[in-house]
Amino acid sequence: MHMERTAAAALVPLGQHKLPPLPYPYNALEPVISRTALRIHHDKHHQSYVDGLNEAEIQLARSRAENNYSLIKHWERELAFNGSGHILHSIFWTVMAPPRNTRVGPETLRHIIAYFGSMSAFQRQFSEAAIQVEASGWAILVWQPAWSRLEILTAEKHQDLTQWGGIPVLVLDVWEHAYYLDYQNRRSDYVHAWWQLTNWPEVERRLRLAMRAQMPISLEQAIASWPYC
Ligand code: MN
Repeated sequence: MHMERTAAAALVPLGQHKLPPLPYPYNALEPVISRTALRIHHDKHHQSYVDGLNEAEIQLARSRAENNYSLIKHWERELAFNGSGHILHSIFWTVMAPPRNTRVGPETLRHIIAYFGSMSAFQRQFSEAAIQVEASGWAILVWQPAWSRLEILTAEKHQDLTQWGGIPVLVLDVWEHAYYLDYQNRRSDYVHAWWQLTNWPEVERRLRLAMRAQMPISLEQAIASWPYC
């Protein structure tokens, strides 16, 4: 019997994030992403973000215990960089699958057409955003609960440039470590080949979950639950 996965994410205790296993073998994304590139990317790079996030959380707990915030600027930066790196990579592995033509889900298609005009217009903008990220970063399709629609954002590193509250549903890593072994400096070849891997059913699942989120930002919404009058 088909069971929809609706359980809330498990609570992760402070400093105990773990590297999630890849949902497929290392060679599953060939020839778009080689076994060697995927193994190093997952086992080494993603692991380092998990380790860095745990360290930042532990150091901030120590700061609280000792009431010593002399290094808080550093550890808050580490928290943002490594936490965002861990989250984006965890999503990245699942929105890819062995090359095959999966169909775009109905809710995904509806919202893409409603905002971007067409599937091809969306893919052109997403690809160009990815290709033109300065240095290391990501292209990210988010559901923005504040406005009930999709948007394409980019991130420099993992955490710079965003709209608060946007929930990523499709992400593309364009750090050199994601493509240099297979494509050298040809980032655009990697980006265009990458669309063969898109796991659209997973994007649809993520979008449907994201659409349940609420971020009230209007004055009317705030006043509706105002406790002071
Ligand atoms: Mn990466």
